[in-house]
Amino acid sequence: MTSILVSNDDGINAPGLFHLKQALDDVGEVTVIAPDREWTHSGHAKTMHKPLRVNELRLPDGSLAYASNGSPADCIALAVLGFLPQLPDLVVAGINLGANVGHDITYSGTLAAAIEGTISGMPSLAASLDTYEDGDFRYAARFVAYLAQQALAHGLPPNVLLNVNVPSLPGEEIAGIEITRLGRRLYLDELIRRQDPRGQNYYWIGGERPSGYAEDEGTDIWALARNHISITPIHLDMTEHEFIEELRSWEITTQWAVHNSEARE
Ligand code: MN
Repeated sequence: MTSILVSNDDGINAPGLFHLKQALDDVGEVTVIAPDREWTHSGHAKTMHKPLRVNELRLPDGSLAYASNGSPADCIALAVLGFLPQLPDLVVAGINLGANVGHDITYSGTLAAAIEGTISGMPSLAASLDTYEDGDFRYAARFVAYLAQQALAHGLPPNVLLNVNVPSLPGEEIAGIEITRLGRRLYLDELIRRQDPRGQNYYWIGGERPSGYAEDEGTDIWALARNHISITPIHLDMTEHEFIEELRSWEITTQWAVHNSEARE
């Protein structure tokens, strides 16, 4: 029996997690291990200085699930390192409330869970719904379950995961599916400076929801703007291979030796 590990960064009670779990029940035996609270925008946090707890609970369909006080990546690590009796065949993280496109993938706890799965050698998917409002996850869950079947059938290369973003639209309004590359986010963050009752400054990083360069053809942001599902293969090798030669031309070894000896004189 195919075993599937499901987690998220919106927390164990998030509707997107439950819809994903229910859709994946048709694909394999699903185990849910998710954070006991929200970890949105927590990146690839791992817990190192306090114990991890895991509590059993029941999802709305009566099935057993596990809630951890750890991060999304901790949840995957727990499962892989022995909390589960066997390694899962597939890791699926989501379905996140809010798209994870472009540079978001470095912030996202949803992506971190899938990346943790990839690092541990399991094919992994990250899935998000492109809305911050009360989303209807049903269509997205069905699509992600289909994609999970495809990933299981075809396999994924080492160090590669799939990042899926689904428009928040009724199925009949979804215009198609695009295989994409990462786009460029446009963050609208601003620093809000206030004073607390004791006269000390404090700060919020606030501002509008992020936008993006929807005109960059072939990107995830472009696909969503055209009401298409976006599937981006993500490689964990972030090396810019094309820059290696130019960086070598800086001759850092030679130049550092000169610089260092001058500094000591
Ligand atoms: Mn989230």
